[in-house]
Amino acid sequence: MDKIFDILVAKFGSDLISLAEKKYLEEPRGRYQSNPMPIIKPKTTKQVSEIISFCNQNNIRVIPYAGGTGLVGGQTIKTNKDTILLSVERMQAIRDILPDENIIIVEAGAILENVRQAASNIDRLFPLALASQGSCRIGGNLATNAGGVQVVRYGNTRDLCLGIEAVLPDGSILNGLKRLRKDNTGYDLRNLLIGSEGTLGIITAACLKLFPKPKETVTGLFVISNPEIAIKTLAELQAKLDTSITAFELIHKQSYNFLSEVCPDVKIPFDKHPEWSILIELSGGMGSNLESRLFEGLEDLFKEGLVSDALIAQSEKQAKEFWDLRENIPEANRRIGSISNHDISLPISLIPKFIQEMPTYMAHLADLRINCFGHLGDGNLHYNVFPPLGKNKNDYVHLREEIKTIIHDKINEFGGSVSAEHGIGRLKIDDLEKYGDPVKLIAMRSIKNAIDPKGIMNPGAVLRESK
Ligand SMILES: Cc1cc2nc3c(=O)[nH]c(=O)nc-3n(C[C@H](O)[C@H](O)[C@H](O)COP(=O)(O)OP(=O)(O)OC[C@H]3O[C@@H](n4cnc5c(N)ncnc54)[C@H](O)[C@@H]3O)c2cc1C
Repeated sequence: MDKIFDILVAKFGSDLISLAEKKYLEEPRGRYQSNPMPIIKPKTTKQVSEIISFCNQNNIRVIPYAGGTGLVGGQTIKTNKDTILLSVERMQAIRDILPDENIIIVEAGAILENVRQAASNIDRLFPLALASQGSCRIGGNLATNAGGVQVVRYGNTRDLCLGIEAVLPDGSILNGLKRLRKDNTGYDLRNLLIGSEGTLGIITAACLKLFPKPKETVTGLFVISNPEIAIKTLAELQAKLDTSITAFELIHKQSYNFLSEVCPDVKIPFDKHPEWSILIELSGGMGSNLESRLFEGLEDLFKEGLVSDALIAQSEKQAKEFWDLRENIPEANRRIGSISNHDISLPISLIPKFIQEMPTYMAHLADLRINCFGHLGDGNLHYNVFPPLGKNKNDYVHLREEIKTIIHDKINEFGGSVSAEHGIGRLKIDDLEKYGDPVKLIAMRSIKNAIDPKGIMNPGAVLRESK
């Protein structure tokens, strides 16, 4: 490493290159670490291009790094080959913002929260919303095709991106920042780079869609009898309120139990933790009359007693409290300590059957606790498995692989996906190989070999490194 560090400093100067501090070498869950290595922090796309071109010529491998919040180990690597981290954190500029076109052009290092704020400052909405939005960066969001809580209305990051500027593995710059909503001119390289997790190039900037900022928002927490009713509620509301539904999150009792145990500052608005509840957000233009339309929409379900305890936030503060509750669930899970976490998606109508049956397939292992919550409106659940009450996860980690296999086999049987929004990274390569379409895998490898024949870009992420 010393040799490559010296070579890079000599070439690019100590302003750009340093030894990576500890925070760059591990991911949020602490499951993956990088070995010590140099980190380079370019300030411009031209510098990125020069660096990548140099790395390509000298067989130096590059791990792209944005906010470091990825949950599948894609931003980390253990290797003894010449490798560097390339962080886009100094490329934070908002290059342009065009209210009339509802467009913002930002560099890859812009923090998601700042992009949302910049849009808000001109009375627009950039709808990508994740609990990690104070740290994650647009380059990482695009590279992982992040989802979040508003996908049900606005789609995931892919749907929010009109154009991409990127540096390809040979150092060439792809100038794809056109502000066009229609452009059918051949292969869509933008969509190839989105979700490629740094394996096909470095995203340096993006042209993103903005939306009118909602003038009315209603946030509600509803107690429901079971997940089937959640699906019914979603269908009723979609039929009656259509695109006004901007979030639809399922929360199980276990989430409330964990929150009250380890996050006592989070306010839980129910005296008794409900078995199942949904957090609904509706938004629309002035005079949308959403609250009354929401109650009208759910009238039949209320009458039948299938939806009860409807709490509607009476202020922005209370709406934030409802969202804090939802957004703190991952932190509560972390503090309790899970054996395994699963970011899965299913055909929406099969979700109740999956939730009901799944514990029975694991019952022989131990009296495991399950915290199942997530973006029900997109068919995306976070299905996390915990040790029995009073036990430590370390005594159960030996079950992790077995639990994972049971859950993922079932997901596959149900026609679902073993990675709904976090990606493949280094964590789910075995799963991609086991459950992925073989033809897709061959095509993916051909694309990788064509664009990155030397395999310098994020080797061993998404696709297993060839020997
Ligand atoms: C508390 C918490 C909540 C989260 N909630 C959600 C959620 O609701 N939905 C969701 O989808 N994800 C969620 N995530 C996961 C994570 O925030 C997202 O995946 C995020 O989009 C990653 O962005 P990042 O900037 O941190 O990327 P990083 O972690 O730095 O990188 C992620 C991947 O992208 C690659 N990459 C980074 N920058 C570039 C670039 N410029 N060009 C090419 N490749 C690049 C990296 O090599 C790596 O493979 C959450 C994470 C945390 C910690």
